[in-house]
Amino acid sequence: MTSGSTCSGPALRFTAYGRYFEGPPLGPYAWTLNHYDSLSTMLLPGDNGTWAVGLVVAARDPDMRALREPEVWQRAAALFPPITPWAAGTPFREVLVMSGSESRAAGGPGMVNVGDAWATTNPTFGLGMTMGVTHAVLLGDIGLQEPEELIRRLDAATGATLPPIYQRLRAWDEHRLAELEGVRHGLPYDGDDPSWAVAKSLDTAKLFDGDLLRAMTDIAWTCATPEEVLSVPGRCERIATLGGRAPFPRVRRNPCEATRRSCRPVVPAQRVGPEAPCEER
Ligand SMILES: Cc1cc2nc3c(=O)[nH]c(=O)nc-3n(C[C@H](O)[C@H](O)[C@H](O)COP(=O)(O)OP(=O)(O)OC[C@H]3O[C@@H](n4cnc5c(N)ncnc54)[C@H](O)[C@@H]3O)c2cc1C
Repeated sequence: MTSGSTCSGPALRFTAYGRYFEGPPLGPYAWTLNHYDSLSTMLLPGDNGTWAVGLVVAARDPDMRALREPEVWQRAAALFPPITPWAAGTPFREVLVMSGSESRAAGGPGMVNVGDAWATTNPTFGLGMTMGVTHAVLLGDIGLQEPEELIRRLDAATGATLPPIYQRLRAWDEHRLAELEGVRHGLPYDGDDPSWAVAKSLDTAKLFDGDLLRAMTDIAWTCATPEEVLSVPGRCERIATLGGRAPFPRVRRNPCEATRRSCRPVVPAQRVGPEAPCEER
């Protein structure tokens, strides 16, 4: 992507450095996606004794580009306990690099836009198929219609279901990229957004509390909205208390206060900012 070109994604980008492995089964894992100060780790279990491990960084971070080298990638992966045993398997391909996976809107007026043609979401969260299948179900419920009526009804049905998920994931991308950029420059990032603070607090709190782990899973699998999850009595308080334990999330604003604000009474809907031109990679 050259400077000056435009696209509908955020100006900052993620790059994922991934490796495929094979070996004997390694048993259960706690959570497949974990976020640290300078990268996120991703475990993707496969079949037939195979799996993939990914390190997701900010594309702008020049130091991270060394992860393209297998020995550098292996040394880095060995630093993160949730993926250490998985990264010690037998690799069967070189390090694979993928950039530009942020959530972005697609489609256009006057068309039946479904699945990725409507919007892509960050594959880190593994929700692309869910979005597409949701669209298929909505289309099936609407049934055969004249084209204009079909588009109108699908837009109406989609508007009540998928945009909040897309906007939440896109807002997450923007906050996370800004956070990674902040870490790189030694500047703490708090995002000034209660939804970001509560998302990060819950991400930590789930490690200490089974109910919060289920709550997080409900959101991650789109079984419940953040509003529904946070409306359960007592959860906000536990998220606020337990979410402050880990070095990350590290929000300058008091995380308890931020969590309580976003729980009152629901997390406000995210507004998607204006489209930004893509930066040169
Ligand atoms: C690296 C990566 C990892 C992912 N991981 C996950 C995951 O773990 N879980 C998950 O749920 N989602 C994941 N996704 C997202 C998921 O793959 C997509 O959201 C999903 O495939 C979208 O389905 P779709 O039918 O809308 O589009 P597609 O799967 O892209 O299907 C579109 C089809 O249309 C065809 N086509 C295009 N143009 C034409 C044409 N002119 N004429 C005829 N055919 C045409 C294409 O060849 C393609 O077969 C991931 C995506 C990526 C990139």
